[in-house]
Amino acid sequence: MNQIMRWLAPESVAGFLARLFFLMALVTAANVTFATAFGDHEDHAAWYYVLHAAVVGGPFIVFFLTVSVFQMRLQRHFWQLSRKDALTAINNRRSFFALTNEVRAQNDTGVLMMLDADRFKRINDTHGHQAGDNCLKTIAYTLERSTRQTDILGRLGGEEFAIYLPDTSASLALAIGERLTIPITFLVDETQSLSVTMSIGAVVSQPDLTIDQLLAQADRALYRAKQNGRAQMVFDQVPTQTPNHLVQMNHATPASTSQ
Ligand code: GH3
Ligand code: MG
Ligand code: MG
Repeated sequence: MNQIMRWLAPESVAGFLARLFFLMALVTAANVTFATAFGDHEDHAAWYYVLHAAVVGGPFIVFFLTVSVFQMRLQRHFWQLSRKDALTAINNRRSFFALTNEVRAQNDTGVLMMLDADRFKRINDTHGHQAGDNCLKTIAYTLERSTRQTDILGRLGGEEFAIYLPDTSASLALAIGERLTIPITFLVDETQSLSVTMSIGAVVSQPDLTIDQLLAQADRALYRAKQNGRAQMVFDQVPTQTPNHLVQMNHATPASTSQ
């Protein structure tokens, strides 16, 4: 189909005209063939017109419909390419931003989490880039499984991910985040598996702040999570009633990869 489409698409006016005349010749040939086979019926019976449409127009209609299906598939493919991360198949940075902005415009009472794999460079350095890629795919899969359908998940780049939890309190976000700091096991190859932990910086959404500003705050909290020993979730200033400015949760397992 690709080749047919390439041949059909004109690259110049001359190419366009050549194809136009070629297709007109085809229609004429189909008409002549039809007239020779069925003659010219003066009574103009309905079956004659239906048959005429089927024989002369049928192949063109089938072709037109096939091209439409091809076009739709291409569009879906390009849509996926532009919105999904190629390695993990979750939202890329751009679509994460777009989807989060959409949700925040409707109801801005959520929590934004920024997640970073702990000591990820070691995995690459010790076991190779392929093992690192497997690790990233498993992280994405685990995050997807551990979040709700309404949550927005994205890969910001490298070993950094983000989740926007709409309509979620800080305490509920902590409960969700707790699950995500548990070591994630991934396959290095057919015989060996390792585990990796995630550090999380979180911030309660505020309507007057852009997503960039919220991410900067979450990043600050993430930095503290790393400083405090990794594999934990730290909130950047939980606003209002909470007496402590910092809500923090430590996971018992020390951050590092293990065999
Ligand atoms: P920390 O706990 O402080 O976050 O340490 P870290 O090692 O995870 O962080 P660092 O920023 O030092 O290393 C990130 C590494 O991620 C370096 C880079 O080569 C690797 N990386 C980025 N993108 C990819 C990718 O798509 N695939 C693989 N395999 N590695 C990647
Ligand atoms: Mg990082
Ligand atoms: Mg990291």
